[in-house]
This record gives sequence, structure tokens and C-alpha cells, in this order.
Amino acid sequence: MTASATPAGAGRGARPFLHGPERDAVSEALLSGQYGHGPVTEAFEKEVAAFLGVPDVVAVASGTAALHIGLLAAGIGPGDEVAVPSLTFCASVQAIRASGACPRFIEVSPDTLCVQAQDVLEAITPATRAVMPVLYGGRAVDLAGIQDVLDARGIVVIEDAAHAFGSCCGPKRVGSTGALTCFSYDPIKNLTCGEGGAVVPRNEQEASAARRLRGLGIAQSAGQRSLATSYGVDGFGLRAHLSSINAAIGRVQLRNFATVEARRKELWRAYEAGLKKLDSVALVDVDVDHTVPFNCVVRVLRARDGVFRHLRSRGVEVGVHYPPNHLQPAFAPWHRSLPMTESLGQQILSLPFHPGMDDEDVHYVVSVLGQALRSAASEVS
Ligand SMILES: *Cc1c(COP(=O)(O)O)cnc(C)c1O
Repeated sequence: MTASATPAGAGRGARPFLHGPERDAVSEALLSGQYGHGPVTEAFEKEVAAFLGVPDVVAVASGTAALHIGLLAAGIGPGDEVAVPSLTFCASVQAIRASGACPRFIEVSPDTLCVQAQDVLEAITPATRAVMPVLYGGRAVDLAGIQDVLDARGIVVIEDAAHAFGSCCGPKRVGSTGALTCFSYDPIKNLTCGEGGAVVPRNEQEASAARRLRGLGIAQSAGQRSLATSYGVDGFGLRAHLSSINAAIGRVQLRNFATVEARRKELWRAYEAGLKKLDSVALVDVDVDHTVPFNCVVRVLRARDGVFRHLRSRGVEVGVHYPPNHLQPAFAPWHRSLPMTESLGQQILSLPFHPGMDDEDVHYVVSVLGQALRSAASEVS
């Protein structure tokens, strides 16, 4: 088979999945003439809150903004340290830097690419004020076992749940476990608004702090402002509301989420079954029974870069998520030795994964991966 025979689904690493009515919803928002934060955004907030089973959700412009605002709403700032896995999208770390705090990089488990309680305990210092677990691949991170230690030291948990919309932690949806949780609704996430994000606050004060922070520090709601001749600016603020156009997309996605949830689980299980036949790759486990998988990642134990090139040359859009942050020049001041993360950085490979794929696409990717592994092995020996 030549590269041109690559099935369409396998040739895209990740891509948005649209149900159809998004197009009309966007037209409607455009024609309404109200593009900023408005009733459509507020309806989206209420619907997400109902879906998660929480009293309130604050919609924002992106997942990065959600993390930034979440940190600020929790009182994190200059002089503070935030424990975060090095193996995450650089957005997690830039949000910490934007708050004025510093990252304290931590290791992850090779089996899940998520932090474990002992990684957190090992890394915290007297300056640590927050822990930002990344729910890699959509998998919940349960730190309940060390909650007492964290509480006693005044450390808050701010979840980077960018991958994990719809996943569960035990019987509860991620976002409803009591942590401060941040979601991304960017183009390739489990639910997309085009661009967008959300903060799930822990209480009313945090919710109103997050609303002020996303809206330039203005104390009044948009509704209140329209009835008054003035407004009050209470403090620091960002311009990070979710536009009505984006919220309109999100509302359609949420109504149809069950389809995506089922499809992502099926695809991940199809990969799991196919990959069993291959030696020298280990599937990163997402706990698929509880998780809406965001991606499908394997560890290639030898010659990952050769395997990557082979797959790319066959038109299969594999990727690496993510190059470790503690090795990035921007974060050099906070570098420390993280041997597990450094070796994982050389092994991880994300396979094409999005709801537009079918089982045939999965079989194709697995068979080309098998060829790539055999050809890499023969080059090495
Ligand atoms: C996507 C993502 C973000 C940032 O979300 P945006 O909406 O793209 O700003 C943060 N952390 C992780 C792990 C992500 O994958």
C-alpha cells in the first residue's frame, strides 16, 4: 500500500468532530448581533453545570485562561510555587507563569502519564501553594488520599482537566469532586466550542472572583451594567470571556456529547485489542471504563523517532504529547532532574485519535505501526 492509500481517518492525528447543527447555531449567534458574553454564554454555563452536577460553572475564552483565572481566583501569585507534571502541554506551565507563580516540576507514572500521590508528596516544598494535576488522556487523578496533608499545608488542588471533559472519578464526573477544575474546549478537545474553556469554582466567592477576573475586573454583570450609568472596577482583570458564537457551538456539542463519549471509548478499546499483538509497545492506560479518552498514547521502547518517521512517511499523523517542560529553555530556571519524565519523553507516541475515525482506520494504524516497529528493530540490529 502506498501513502496515498492511507484511510482518511488515519491520516489525521486529531480533529474536531461536528454533529451538524453547530452551523445553524453559529449563524443564529451571528445574526443576533451579540457576539460577546451574553445569554447564550450564560445558557452554556448552566447546561455544563447541570451536566456535571455542580452549582456553578464560569465559562472563559480558553483552557489556558481557565487555568490562569483558576490560579488567581485561588489566590496564587508571585512567590508561590505550583507543583505540576513536566509532561504536559506548555499551556499548564505558562498559566502558572502568568499568575506570577513558579512551576515545581514533578514526575508521572509511566503506566498512566499522570502524577501519583507520592510524586506530589516528594516534590512539595514550603513555598508550594497549589498542585496542578494534569488529567492526561482524560484519566481522573484522585489525590483524596493526601488531601489532609495538602489541607494542613494550605495547598489547593487546581486540576488541568483540559483532556478530561466527561470523564469520571469513581461515580462522579470530573469537575464535581470538590477540586477547582479547569476545562478546555479548544478544537480537538472532547467537547469543542471552537475555542473556549471553563472553570468549576469551589464556592460562591471563587465563582465571583473568576467572573470578575474574566471580565476586566468589572464588578457588575453585563445585565446590571446595561441598566446603570456607571460601573465599578474592583481589581485586576483579564479580557477572557467566552463569546456567544463559541458558546453556541458548545451547546450543540453538549447536547450530543453521549455520541462522542461512546465513540471515543469504542475507538480506544479497538486500539487496545489491536495493540495486544504488538511487542515492544506499551499502551498508556486511561482507565477507559471511567474515562472519555482524549488520545491514545503508546510507549515505544526502542527507536521511537524512527517509528515516528516511518508512520509519518506512510501518511499516518502520529505526534508526541508532550516534550517535557523542564527541558524547555523558557522554564530553565525551574529545571530539576526528572529521569522518568526524560525517558518517557523519548518513548511516547500519540496515535491518530478522533471520533471521525472508524475501526478500519484503527486497524490500518496498528498494522503500519507493526511494520514500523519491525523496520526500526532491523535497523538497530
Ligand atoms: C489544550 C490544553 C490546555 C490549554 O487549553 P486551550 O483551550 O488550548 O488554551 C491546557 N492543558 C492541556 C493539558 C491541554 O491539552
